[in-house]
This record gives sequence, structure tokens and C-alpha cells, in this order.
Amino acid sequence: METLQHIINAQKVGGTASKKFDIYNPATAQVIKQIQGASANDTKNAIQAASDAFTTWQQVSPTKRAHLMFNYRDLLYRDLDNLAQLVSKEHGKTLNDAKGEVMRGIEIVEFCTGINNHLKSDFSANVSDNIDSHNLRQAVGVCAGITPFNFPAMVPMWMFPIAIACGNTFVLKLSEKTPSCGLRMTELFIEAGFPNGVLNTIVGDKESVDEILSNPLVQAISFVGSTQIGEYIYQEGCKHNKRVQALCGAKNHLIVMPDANIENVCDAVLGAAYGSAGERCMAISVVVAVGDEVADSVISKLTPMIKQLKIGQYNEPGVEMGPVITKQSQENILNYINQGIEQGADLVIDGRSECDRTGFFVGGCLFDNVKVSMSIYTNEIFGPVLCVVRVDSYDAALQLVNDNEYGNGAAIFTRDGDTARHFTMHAQAGMVGVNVPIPVPVASHSFGGWKRSLFGNNAIHGMEGVRFYTKLKTVTSRWPSGIRQGAQFHFESAREHE
Ligand code: NAD
Repeated sequence: METLQHIINAQKVGGTASKKFDIYNPATAQVIKQIQGASANDTKNAIQAASDAFTTWQQVSPTKRAHLMFNYRDLLYRDLDNLAQLVSKEHGKTLNDAKGEVMRGIEIVEFCTGINNHLKSDFSANVSDNIDSHNLRQAVGVCAGITPFNFPAMVPMWMFPIAIACGNTFVLKLSEKTPSCGLRMTELFIEAGFPNGVLNTIVGDKESVDEILSNPLVQAISFVGSTQIGEYIYQEGCKHNKRVQALCGAKNHLIVMPDANIENVCDAVLGAAYGSAGERCMAISVVVAVGDEVADSVISKLTPMIKQLKIGQYNEPGVEMGPVITKQSQENILNYINQGIEQGADLVIDGRSECDRTGFFVGGCLFDNVKVSMSIYTNEIFGPVLCVVRVDSYDAALQLVNDNEYGNGAAIFTRDGDTARHFTMHAQAGMVGVNVPIPVPVASHSFGGWKRSLFGNNAIHGMEGVRFYTKLKTVTSRWPSGIRQGAQFHFESAREHE
């Protein structure tokens, strides 16, 4: 069986933690690879390598950094299919979906090829007599990224390319469930010509994360994962005076107004709720139907579509939905489905029979008449389970979105500009879609939720990423009159100035 290794200072090294992680193909429930975890000491070595590399990397001009980013982009394109295979095999999502996430990551690298432009600063001439003022955005130092299992290519690329383009060096701590793609992306980064130690990639759990949180050499931490862990990381990181951004869990609502085109809604909801087996932080997990008529027609149109979903391994022809990540995750989802039934929701489509296959499969499930007190509504299920909540007005639908503890994404389907505009202005969520079910911002914009979906002040990538990974300096300068007064051919005497 293949054993993976960490990459520290451009060298492959084995881990020394006591824990060895099994990496599964979730479609077959087989262990396909293993890795000995990174211990606190291995993590310290990675941080030290990044700190040593920072001394020279911060001096490299943004233009040279951008040249290397162009090389990196070309290599990622060259290996696109291979990277997608690595993602699908460990995560279970379809190959097309995996390719899509690698492409989204490449778009961030493309943003970084323009880093010169993004680091341009403000200049004000003559802010006072003969005084000028300008801003500099300087690298913060060693940055670290802690990533989740569900986007093994895209989420790491939300972080390290921008941090490094800004002149920082990086320690990437990958999810122990899906590490192969991130390790391969690191090899390509080194092949692109970045100096040793600029990007160091390790795989571990709490032991290595706790070293990152407390090591004084680490200046900034980006985290993407569950709310429970994200809140811990934010609090611990801040306690150690680091800047922290922690992007966390979600319960994304999609409001369907009576004037919406129901066919469009159902096409959109099918992909948004069941794509990637619902394991996306921007998945739609709640449809809020305004009026019983809307609810009935969404459910009657959606039912055959969900039943026809082609479920299977990522590389089977025509497959639309793969397994969930682990046995534990499958059991967790089944528990929620049972609680939904016990608490009185109507299970219109029961996908539990898919759990009998080999692999960690759960079929698409649909609950109607879900109430806000039920655990299937209050908790992030992170599986292919969609809840329909019925309300009688737009105001009640908006209230649901705003009362929810999460605020990652929220969408509305309507043909009325006034309602749509009101929603974009008043929805308490960081990313809002109008007739778009998963409003994930492109690379030049920034990604981030509100409420308990994001701890910290900055969203990720785009200009928010540049701000997070740089320190602002404001320079105020005044120059005494100098050589512009012309050449002098005699020794100057102090008396001339009396
Ligand atoms: P997770 O919180 O279990 O793990 C995330 C990272 O934290 C991993 O690298 C993991 O090794 C590490 N970790 C786990 N337990 C830890 C502990 N006790 N102490 C320190 N570190 C620990 O999340 P996951 O299951 O990998 O990912 C799914 C979650 O991520 C979902 O909640 C999803 O909504 C969220 N997510 C959010 C976004 C976003 O942008 N808001 C994007 C993707 C995923």
C-alpha cells in the first residue's frame, strides 16, 4: 500500500506522530493509502523551514513572484486530470465536480499572477506643507492554513498562493482524510521554481494544529472546517496574538417565491442540495417555500428527479452523486434522518436503502413540513438531506434566514426585482444568490460568511485575502530641499545659512 509523506523544505519526510491515518476510497470502503501523522515536532520543523525561507522570500520582487505563479498555473493545467482523479478517489465526488474545484483553485493562482496590481498602494501628495503620505502592504511572515476534507484542491488554493504572492511563506496542514491532491500540488509548486521552504505541507490532527496555534513564529492562520473546531482555532490563535480567519459551517436557505419558475428552481436545487453528496459548505440544505402551492409543486417536480439520481463511484459513466466521506459520517447522517422522522417531519424520499451497498453511500433524502425546532433544521447535516420549510410570506422566509445561527450563503428565486433587491439588502448572510443557488464568489471577489459561519474580520481570497496576508504601513515623509538647487562648486560654510 502507498505510504504518503509530508513535504518540509522541499524534502519528503515521514511523520513521527504516534497516529497513522488510513485514507479510504469511500466508494469501496477500502483503505488505499496511509500516512504517519505529523507530530508537534514535525510541525515545528515545517514552521522553522518557512521562517528561514521568509528572510529571502520577502525581498523577492512581486514581479518575480508573479512569474513563478504563471509557471505554477501552467503545471496545474498540465496535471488537471491527474489532480481531479486524486480528489475523486479519496473524497468520492464525481470527476467533473473535482475538475471544477481544481479549476476554481487555478483561478486563484491566476489572480496571484496580477499581484503587482493588487499590492499597489495609495499615495497622497502634499497632505501638509511639503509632506506626502503613502501606504505599503508588507508581508506578515509565516502563515499557516488548516483545511477540511471536502475541497482538497480548492480550499488550500484559497490560501497559500495569495499568502505567498504577498511575500509570506506558508505551512499547509491538510485534512488527514483527503491529503493526496494537496501533497501533489505542493510538488508542482516546487517544480514551478519556488524556493525551498516557501511552501511546506504536512498532514496531521489536533497535535500538529496545536503547535501551529501556539508557535510564536506563526503570524497568521487561515482555517476552513466545522464551526466547533473553527471557534476553538479562532480563540486559541487570538490568545497567542495571531491574526486568524476561520471559515466554518453552514445551513444555507433557498427561498422560493410564488412567481419563480419552478422548473428552474428544481434544476438548481437538485445540483445544489445533492451535488457532492451535500458535502459542501455552500450546499442548499433548506428550501423555504412561500405558500403551500409553491411547496407542493417543488416537491412533486423534485421527487422523480431525486429518485433518478445516478449514485456510484466517481468514474462510473453518468454518475451524479458519490458516497459521503466516512462510515462515521454515514452513521451521523442516518441519525439525523431518524431524528427527523421521530420529531415529526415527513420523509418524502427515503434514501437510506443506498446505505446497504459497499462504500459509504447515502441516497438522496427529502423532508417536508420541517419545523425550526427539529434537529434536521438546526444542525448542519453535511449529507444529501434536503429540508422543505413552508411559510406564508416573504417576510417570514427572510426572518428564517436571519434567525439562523449560520450566515454563509442564502438564495432567493423570484422574477420580481423589488423582492430580490430587498433580499440582497436585508439577508444576514455573507454570500447571497439571486436566481443562483450556490453563490460562490469568483477569485477576484472574496468568499466568507457571517454569524457563526466566519470567525475573524476578513473573508478569504480576492482583495480580502491580500488584506489578511499583509500588514498595512502608512509612511509620512518630508524632504528638506536638496540637490535640485543645482551643483555646488565650493565648500559649504555654515555661515552661508545664517
Ligand atoms: P473539521 O472541522 O473536522 O476539520 C477541519 C480541519 O481541522 C482538518 O484539517 C482537521 O484535521 C482539523 N481538526 C479536526 N479536529 C481538530 C481538533 N480537535 N483540533 C484541531 N484541529 C482539528 O471539518 P471537516 O469535516 O474536514 O470539513 C467539513 C466542515 O467544513 C463542514 O462543517 C463545512 O461546512 C466546513 N466547510 C466550511 C467552508 C467555508 O468556507 N465556510 C468550506 C468548506 C468546508
